[in-house]
Formats: sequence, C-alpha cells, structure tokens
Amino acid sequence: MTIEDKLLSTRFVVDSQNPHITLNTLLCATCREAPCINVCPAQCYRREEERMVFSWENCLECGSCRVVCVADAIEWNYPRGGVGVCYRFG
Ligand code: SF4
Repeated sequence: MTIEDKLLSTRFVVDSQNPHITLNTLLCATCREAPCINVCPAQCYRREEERMVFSWENCLECGSCRVVCVADAIEWNYPRGGVGVCYRFG
C-alpha cells in the first residue's frame, strides 16, 4: 500500500476557528533550510516566493515539523477533542 493509498483512508475534522499549529512567519523568513517542507508527510508547508505558506487542515499530527524547526517558529498543540485527523477509514 502506498502513502497516497493510506492518506485516502484518512479523514479530517477541521476546527476552522482554532488552528492547532501556528507559524511565526517572521522567523520563517530567516530560515534558509526550511526542513519542515521536506519532513511533512502531508505536504502542509511550501514556500511561495520568499514567504512560507502553511495549510494545517491536512495535518496528520505527527509532530515532525515541530521537532525539526531550526527557527523555533512553530507553535504546536494537539487539536481539542473531537476534531483533527482520524485514521483507518475505508
Ligand atoms: Fe506535517 Fe506532521 Fe507537522 Fe502535521 S505535524 S504539519 S503532518 S509534519
């Protein structure tokens, strides 16, 4: 089974008013390596020109981005109960 197949069996309940990850984009602008882009299995991070863009709605809650962030730019909390990622559907 490929990663794409596994992601297809994943559901998200998005808490649109309370993102569980926030970025300090001023600190992101100082980061050349941007390891979050490479480590995120859900491809939530990308650069657009010089700006870091993040879409937390597809987050798998693995925590990898928080661990590898060299700029200390990520504030990360688990979503509140009943929202976030749900695994093993389908
Ligand atoms: Fe991506 Fe994991 Fe960070 Fe979510 S917690 S944004 S899936 S690296």
